[in-house]
Amino acid sequence: MKKERLDKILANLGYGTRKEVKKMVKNGEVEVNGEVIKDSSIHVDPEKDEILVNGEKVIYREFIYIMMNKPKGVITATYDDVEQTVLDLVDDEYRVFSPSPVGRLDKDTEGLLIITNDGELNHLLLSPKRHVPKKYYAKVLGRVTEEDVKKFKKGVVLDDGYKTLPAELNILITGEVSEIELTIYEGKYHQVKRMFESVGKKVIYLKRIEFGPLKLDESLHPGEYRELSEEEVQALK
Ligand code: URA
Repeated sequence: MKKERLDKILANLGYGTRKEVKKMVKNGEVEVNGEVIKDSSIHVDPEKDEILVNGEKVIYREFIYIMMNKPKGVITATYDDVEQTVLDLVDDEYRVFSPSPVGRLDKDTEGLLIITNDGELNHLLLSPKRHVPKKYYAKVLGRVTEEDVKKFKKGVVLDDGYKTLPAELNILITGEVSEIELTIYEGKYHQVKRMFESVGKKVIYLKRIEFGPLKLDESLHPGEYRELSEEEVQALK
């Protein structure tokens, strides 16, 4: 890891704003390799140099990985002038890392959203070549049938002429409002809604329950999030 300014490192780790961190350093609250440092502009390597803040060792990390249960009503973006975004729901402790959502869920869609500052992983998970599976639970207006299961397995043609890759449709309840699970291996715009439109049905509730090897942690209420475990991050790679 290349050396960075001490105040930048500490601010990125959530110890305060750059200004607050500078003050802490001036006050003698920060030690680097056993020495109290008064100049916050010094460059240090947070992976090699030992940094203490008020006697506590600073645990450095470059990347953060969050699983959010996205609520409906917020948009999948980092910033917006008007709408509330998923990043608005995340504490400063994580926002200092400038993370972004991996892919997009519609404003009215709920469920599993990964948020990270690991650009490489973000790219990898969205790569059209990798076909990372995404599983959704949906309520659909109209009777979903075995015929639909077969059609989705073959691929359906969307309103713009695109033919979808084979997808697995599992009917949980069929009725005037059906309940289903659908696994898709790509991520076209409004894909699940448009797939059902192609068979004359309307999605009225949509929730992503799996993304690749990750399952939505059901203990997370809509709007809540948690960090991924080491194992979960490794499984994604
Ligand atoms: N498909 C949709 O139609 N909407 C989403 O938010 C995700 C997948």
